[in-house]
Amino acid sequence: MHEVNHIVPGQLVNRLRLKNLQKSMEQLVETEMHQPSQCSGCENKRAQLAEDAFLRRKRTILEGVLLQEKLKDHLCTQDALLIIGKMHQRLPKLSDDPRDIWRKLKERALQAEGMALPEPSPKQKKHISSRAPALSHGE
Ligand SMILES: [Zn+2]
Repeated sequence: MHEVNHIVPGQLVNRLRLKNLQKSMEQLVETEMHQPSQCSGCENKRAQLAEDAFLRRKRTILEGVLLQEKLKDHLCTQDALLIIGKMHQRLPKLSDDPRDIWRKLKERALQAEGMALPEPSPKQKKHISSRAPALSHGE
């Protein structure tokens, strides 16, 4: 009696085998019949991937724009620093003789004035010379 419990009935084994086989067949059919274009799961996944790609592209473009702006800012800052550096180079040093400093600054101011003034036209020249007899030669 004890022995009988350990013996698996052949019918049960057959039934289990059949069930197993059936399941395998179902899986096989499901795999063969799977059409991604008609599968909602695949469709969802595809939509998600497309959205991801779109966002990634957009992000890349935005990053490019931001990088360009940053670069421009950087170059502007560099330019400003360069100008400040040049100005600093032209400024008199504290160790210079004060009289020298004033002379140089005046020279530079005159130079700047001369560069800023437009060259007078012939008519203006005439006007200036007629109004400035001290400049005319021996009349
Ligand atoms: Zn699918």
